[in-house]
Amino acid sequence: MNNFDFIIIGAGCSGLSLLYEMNKSNILKNKTCAVFDKRKKFSKDKIWSYWNVFEHSFSDCLLDQWDKVIVKGNEEIILDCKDFAYQSVDSEKFYNKILKNISDNKNIKLFLDHSVDEIREENDQIIINSKNELFKANLVFDSSLKINNSKDSKIYQHFYGCEVNFKENINLSKYPTLMDFNCDQGNWTHFFYTLPLSDKKIFIETTWISDQQNSTIDEYMSEINEYIQKNLNYKKEYTFGYNEMGSIPMFHFKQKTEYKKIIKIGAAANLTRKSTGYTFLNIQNFTKELVQKLIKNQIISNVQIQSKYNFLDKIFIKVLLEQKSNMHKIFFRLFKKNNAKDIISFLSNDSNFIQDIKIILSMPKLIFIKKLLNF
Ligand SMILES: Cc1cc2nc3c(=O)[nH]c(=O)nc-3n(C[C@H](O)[C@H](O)[C@H](O)COP(=O)(O)OP(=O)(O)OC[C@H]3O[C@@H](n4cnc5c(N)ncnc54)[C@H](O)[C@@H]3O)c2cc1C
Repeated sequence: MNNFDFIIIGAGCSGLSLLYEMNKSNILKNKTCAVFDKRKKFSKDKIWSYWNVFEHSFSDCLLDQWDKVIVKGNEEIILDCKDFAYQSVDSEKFYNKILKNISDNKNIKLFLDHSVDEIREENDQIIINSKNELFKANLVFDSSLKINNSKDSKIYQHFYGCEVNFKENINLSKYPTLMDFNCDQGNWTHFFYTLPLSDKKIFIETTWISDQQNSTIDEYMSEINEYIQKNLNYKKEYTFGYNEMGSIPMFHFKQKTEYKKIIKIGAAANLTRKSTGYTFLNIQNFTKELVQKLIKNQIISNVQIQSKYNFLDKIFIKVLLEQKSNMHKIFFRLFKKNNAKDIISFLSNDSNFIQDIKIILSMPKLIFIKKLLNF
């Protein structure tokens, strides 16, 4: 029997968050849900970090949390975030929690190693094709990404990060480094991101903002080795552990789908902040809203990040394209000229009008006004 009330395409962050919240709120007590993912198994593949401006269901899946973060350029800025801790969720703990939560519910069926190749609407139902088999549902939530022809310039935040285990003692900072611009900028923007994991263990990520979707692993690794030796000043033995690689589009996807019963979720629903790549908390926020609508039997439609952030991010990206190799200075200025609360609220889609104005006024005015007028 391939008929379900709901189908979720993608058992990643947004698909599983939605499944978990639906199960928790008893929507799936009397209704059925099938989840499809092309992946064969679940293993740690991401660390999701954010400032905790919004309570969500996965605070028991943390790798760690911190009350300060650092930004490094010509000098060092410490952002005090004791009111909104900087948290990192371990995707392995997240997957395990959700798999355990749904394991008793016979109304949920998980299809791994099942890529969804086609979706269409027929007689008021949605039909999907996976492995040449047809599945039907009344409502489909779709987190699969299809990069299409939006007018935005195609630039990416691409990165490679890995855990580094030091054999000898090393003097590591107690706090994450959000951005360390003390590295070769190429013709674009380049920075390092670090999370301290113990006295002798750190997660180091080399991140580029450019028109490339990725570099080779050898290139990323040579950057990380250089960072360990030059920036951390460590010349002894070390080994590598968990690693992740990613490429987050800094543009949005065309949203229109011809079918009303296919709801985009996650990054595919443009829940990524174009300027920063932050998505995790937006997913949690919108998932809760969506589940409330399902409970109240309200019409479900595709969701959007508040338009003021999309507008400001669009200007930011235009400036970035013109000021490619100076962008590190603009980022650094943002952190230097504003207080932590305003920056965190702005980057977490939680800022008020006054905070927005403060952030805008802290930017190099001539460049930004020129882009605003050309909009
Ligand atoms: C390595 C990495 C680190 C990140 N770190 C952060 C961070 O620190 N903070 C933050 O806010 N954001 C971060 N992001 C951005 C964003 O939060 C994540 O990409 C997040 O996982 C997006 O959730 P999602 O559900 O949209 O996509 P995913 O979590 O990628 O889930 C999509 C799922 O759909 C499946 N799928 C795709 N196509 C099909 C298909 N046709 N058929 C079946 N299955 C399909 C995929 O296999 C995948 O499992 C990161 C992204 C990456 C790649």
